[in-house]
Amino acid sequence: MDECIYFTIRSKGKGKTKAWVFKKECPECKKELMGKPRDPKTGRPKIRSKEYLCPACKFTEEKIEHEESLNACIIYTCPSCVHEGEIEIPYKRKSVGIVNEETGKKTYAKALQFECEKCEEKINVTKKMKGN
Ligand SMILES: [Zn+2]
Ligand SMILES: [Zn+2]
Repeated sequence: MDECIYFTIRSKGKGKTKAWVFKKECPECKKELMGKPRDPKTGRPKIRSKEYLCPACKFTEEKIEHEESLNACIIYTCPSCVHEGEIEIPYKRKSVGIVNEETGKKTYAKALQFECEKCEEKINVTKKMKGN
């Protein structure tokens, strides 16, 4: 998954969602794919970094700005109508209300949201949380 900055597979009842976001080519030198800066000691990407870096020319872009310029590719099976589809949406998370099935309480979470192209059911890909 080295070519993606984001990759996830979720399932919920009959529904299934696979979402991924490809890394972006550096807009400055067009030689390398941009990614999180790497820790010089371990060589591993710094996941919490607030910016993305081109390893070739060191061009950096702020995290949110960078991510919102990308598209997320999604393959899904709708949990409501079981339609199977493919969609591409901007990689922008928004706050969505989610009802906890156990407690019935509504909470807000950051999620990528898209609509099933057949039944218009709103499908959320929330940030991974404990017990989710
Ligand atoms: Zn570059
Ligand atoms: Zn549907």
